[in-house]
This record gives sequence, structure tokens and C-alpha cells, in this order.
Amino acid sequence: TAPAATTPSPSQDKLLGGLLSAAFDESTCQSRYKSSLYRKPSPFPLSPYLVKKLRKYEAYHKKCGPGTQRYRTAVEQLQAGRNADSAECRYVVWFPCNGLGNRMLTIASTFLYALLSGRVMLLNVPPEQEGLFCDPFPATSWVLPGGFPEGNPMKLNVGAPESYVNMLNNGVIRHDTPAASLPAHVYLHVEQTRLRLSDNIFCDDDQRLLRKFTWMILKSDSYFAPALFLTPMYEKELARMFPQREAVFHHLGRYLFHPTDRVWGIVRRYYEAYLARVDEKIGFQIRIFPEKPVKFENMYDQLTRCIREQRLLPELGDPASPANATGDDGKVKAVLIASLYSGYYDKIRGLYYESPTKTGEIVAVYQPSHEEKQEYASNEHNQKALAEIYLLSYCDKIAMSAWSTFGYVAYGFAGVKPWILLRPDWNKEVSDVACVRSTSVEPCLHSPPILGCRAKKEVDVARVKPYVRHCEDVGFGLKLF
Ligand code: GDP
Repeated sequence: TAPAATTPSPSQDKLLGGLLSAAFDESTCQSRYKSSLYRKPSPFPLSPYLVKKLRKYEAYHKKCGPGTQRYRTAVEQLQAGRNADSAECRYVVWFPCNGLGNRMLTIASTFLYALLSGRVMLLNVPPEQEGLFCDPFPATSWVLPGGFPEGNPMKLNVGAPESYVNMLNNGVIRHDTPAASLPAHVYLHVEQTRLRLSDNIFCDDDQRLLRKFTWMILKSDSYFAPALFLTPMYEKELARMFPQREAVFHHLGRYLFHPTDRVWGIVRRYYEAYLARVDEKIGFQIRIFPEKPVKFENMYDQLTRCIREQRLLPELGDPASPANATGDDGKVKAVLIASLYSGYYDKIRGLYYESPTKTGEIVAVYQPSHEEKQEYASNEHNQKALAEIYLLSYCDKIAMSAWSTFGYVAYGFAGVKPWILLRPDWNKEVSDVACVRSTSVEPCLHSPPILGCRAKKEVDVARVKPYVRHCEDVGFGLKLF
């Protein structure tokens, strides 16, 4: 008999040095292999240990994931209200919160948590998020199957009786409760409340108790990966996985998120039409938060100040006289603007339409969409948002609005340190400093946990841990570097 036809496995380059599994059929999700071709190679080497850990995780997910007998048994146990004594498969079920950027950051954090704590990560995917991402784990699915008996989204809040902290406070569980006597699931609420992570569960004794639950439901609005680094029992493992801590989201994000062919179509068409053949790409992401509105004129002024001070674009010359011939004459710089509004695009495009640049460079300004307002619940809106996050991530330089998780994801994928357009101080309408360069390509955790666990001491984490510092845009926030 003829040998079974084998499809050649993609080269190591395509697999991003082993970050991606070779077990996928290349034709199933084009972005998986094509997206990285639009970027410079990653500046952050991958640790072989992380690669090993990912392959091990993939096998575990396949063994315990949806469609397996082990999964059915675990769901039956959940339905019966029993926690297993020592379960072969344990799960963390992610629930969505806020916009796409927030969701991608919390999925990456939850995945890191799953890797560290030996759980299978499953996503509760709401309709607005359906069909955005390909499955990242081969021969299985990361989507929570329908009919999952727990986790009514309406009840997942800080007051939920099954939340870990509430169960602990109400005496339902204790640190020494044996596994077989625990409730069938635990809810972990990792949301920022008054700018502190509300349930400070990043302590060894909490992690040991949490580990005994077969089922964990988790909802978060925060990039809580830095908090995992502050949990003593995970410190060593994380150091092996990420010798360069700055690259946690960079690697995990590029491992997990691959737009489906439909979204990739948007990305690819736009990229090939406007960005593929230019000499340099510069992304501006302008995010106006409803809870902290900034006047258009003020934001525009801040953006142009940042452009000027950081020399992000060539200076304008005299429309009446020809440009000095320089080595850059005729080179094309593309500006990609991501914003819900079209005003910034109109004005910047107008500048370079009406005047030449002093260097003779050509500045071409593009904006893929202007949706006018945020629509968390629209699938089409999210497709565009995802496409724009990807397009931004192909830029050589990025300037972004402070506090925006949308921007964090884009520069994290790119592995590029962005310029951050700072928020005005609370009592001002305009920021004195237009923008500062980020010291790291990691996203910011806006609400640091309290260090010291039961001691409940207020300790400035950035002072005691050498690998975190406060964020440029969120003074009390934390980021790995
Ligand atoms: P954050 O609120 O800036 O941290 O980012 P999120 O992504 O969590 O939420 C903002 C949401 O608003 C996005 O997911 C989009 O739905 C929408 N949005 C904000 N800015 C843009 C933009 O520049 N382009 C598009 N297409 N959507 C945007």
C-alpha cells in the first residue's frame, strides 16, 4: 500500500521558533502562519522550556477537553454538586468582561494561570465574540460547549456566594477543607475595584486551596499576569518560562490569538492595499474614554505635540518651494489611525495634503474604520476592532492613548515599545506632557494586588520586586519589564 499522504509540516520560522504547534493543517487558519510575515521577527527569544510547557499543555487539553469522556465525567460531577477527590482533569472557565482588548488580556492571563495551576482553559464565548479567533490548541476546542450548567453571567459579580473570598469569609470553605468536601466549583472574581484587585488571591495558601477544586469559573477585567509573578509559589516556574519577563504577553498573545479567515480577510485586504509597500508604518491609536472625556481640540493638539517632540513624522515644509533633496526624498511613511472618530484622520491627512515635508518624504494617512461608538455586543463591530488591533501591530512605531487595553494588545503583539499619550491630571483638561515612551512591551495591570497576603500590609510592589515597575500611564498600575 502507498504510504499515507503527509502534509509537510511548516518550517520553524513559520512556527515562530516553536511557539506554534506543528500539528495543525496549514490551510485551516491562514493568519496562524501569515500574520507574522507582516511583522519584523520577534526581538524576544523564546525559552525552550516555555515551548515544552505549551506542547504539554496541548496534550493535556486534548485529553481532557470538550468531546472527551473525561470532560463528560467532570461535567456530571459538577452537575451532581460534588468536587472530585483527586481529579485527573481540572478546568478554568473564562467569562467575558468589557471590550475586546480587555478580553484578550484576561484570556492571556487566564491561560498563564491555567499553565501554572494545571488546568484546562475553556472560554465562554458570547455571540459578539463568536468566529473571531481560531482554536489555538490542535485537535480539540477551547470553546466551552453549550449546556454548561454553571456560571450565569448575571450572577458573576463580587457578591456571588460561590466566589472564593465570600466562601472563605462565610466559613463555607477553609484552607484545610479536604478536596472531597469542597463545593463542586469555585468562582474567582479578579476585577479591579477601587483600583485594587478585589479578591487578593495571589498568595500561596489561597492557591493551594484553589488547586483542590476541579472546576473554577473566572471573570476578570484586568491583565492579571503580573499578579501571578507576585505569587511566591509560581515565581520559579515563571522565571524558567519567561527569562525575559517583558515578553509574557508578546509570546502568549501570539500563541493564543489567530483571527479566523473572515477577520484575516479584512486585515489582509487592508494591509496589502495600503501598507505592504511603504517604507515605514506608524500607528496612532486614539481612544477617548466615556468616563474621562477629552475635547477633540485638546486631544488633537496633544497628538501633534507628541508627533513633533518625538519626531514621529517629518516636519512640514513650505508649499511654495520644492523640498531639499535628501536621501529620504520620495520615501513613503504610512500613518495608520485607529479611532472611533474620523476627525484626527481628517486633520492629519489634510496637513500632508496641503504641504510637502521638509525631507521630501511622502506621508500617506489611512484609517480603516470610524465606528463612532463602542458596541460591545456587535459581532461585526468586534471583527473590525480585532482587524485594527492586528493592523496596528504591524506598525514599526506606535503612539497610543493612555489606559487603553486595545492599544496594549497591539504593541504587545508587535513587540514594540509605544509612545503613550498621557491622560491629563484629574484637575486639568490638557496633559502637560504630550507623550512618553514606554519602558516595556508588557501591558499594564491597572489595579495592583496588595502584597503581603494575610498580613494586609500596604507595600509598594514596585519597590520590593525587581521585575515590576509602575506604568507610565497609570501611576499605581504595575507592569513587568
Ligand atoms: P479599552 O476600552 O480601550 O481598554 O479597549 P477595549 O478593546 O477593551 O474596549 C474598547 C472597544 O471599543 C473595542 O473593543 C472596540 O469595540 C471599540 N473601539 C475602541 N477604539 C476603537 C478603534 O480604534 N477601532 C475600532 N474598530 N473599535 C474601537
